[in-house]
Amino acid sequence: MKRLYIVPTPIGNLEDITLRALRILREVRLIAAEDTRTTRKLLDHYQIKTPLTSYHEHNKLTKLDAILDALTAGDVALVSDAGTPGISDPGFELIREAIAREIEIVPLPGPSAIVTALVASGLPTDSYVYLGFLPRKAKALREALSEVAHERRTLVAYESPNRLVETLSAILETLGDRPVAVARELTKIYEEIRRGPASVVLAHYREHEPRGEITLVIGGAPEQIDDHPWDEERVRAALQARLDAGESRRQAAKAVAALSGWDSRAIYDLQ
Ligand code: SAM
Repeated sequence: MKRLYIVPTPIGNLEDITLRALRILREVRLIAAEDTRTTRKLLDHYQIKTPLTSYHEHNKLTKLDAILDALTAGDVALVSDAGTPGISDPGFELIREAIAREIEIVPLPGPSAIVTALVASGLPTDSYVYLGFLPRKAKALREALSEVAHERRTLVAYESPNRLVETLSAILETLGDRPVAVARELTKIYEEIRRGPASVVLAHYREHEPRGEITLVIGGAPEQIDDHPWDEERVRAALQARLDAGESRRQAAKAVAALSGWDSRAIYDLQ
């Protein structure tokens, strides 16, 4: 039985490709690529002449049979435009179907923006949650962030430059002033990793419009959040302390919600 190789490619710097990846790309019978023009540039750079076929978001289902047929004749390598195929890129359906047909899957390790950003963020790497691309609509974005408000693990998301400011504002509103790292243009000439509280990083990007490709890393929920919601007495005390300090009821309810595991509306309505 032939093999389906999953081959990561550079996320910017063309040198970030393994010797093994280059050998596999040279040796396989066919390369299934997200965008054949992008992959052609990479292959030309390394003087690789293997035939290419397209496998992208819009043909990933109709093209399955053709690629699985090709796998009866010889090995196939799957690549995406950048990074690891199948990670917010086409690949999952093909890999699942190949497994169902008992085709051997050979994954090669290599670049992915998630891990590259995470290790440079300075935020805990022992466990993390990958959120993919966050929703674009304001309400859905806030809902998605609220769902992970109590998540202790570090959060990683892909983001586009024209949405970064809106997303950082939503983080500040929904999760509080968490530490974040914006990893921009990783491995490229204008690489930048900006770390700090969400409020500070937000203020920076309000002033300096971000460009290029961005991976966002967000600190997990702070230690103070208990796994079990606080009892009412503790919530009341925390709320009162903030009201006494001059916070509005709405502000105080939100802040206590973020710490206690209670719903902010329920706190707001406490008599
Ligand atoms: N499969 C890829 C991987 O493993 O990294 C991810 C593909 S996803 C469609 C593309 C997104 O990854 C970009 O919109 C950006 O959020 C992130 N990304 C890709 N290259 C990056 C880079 N050089 N620096 C920062 N983020 C990057």
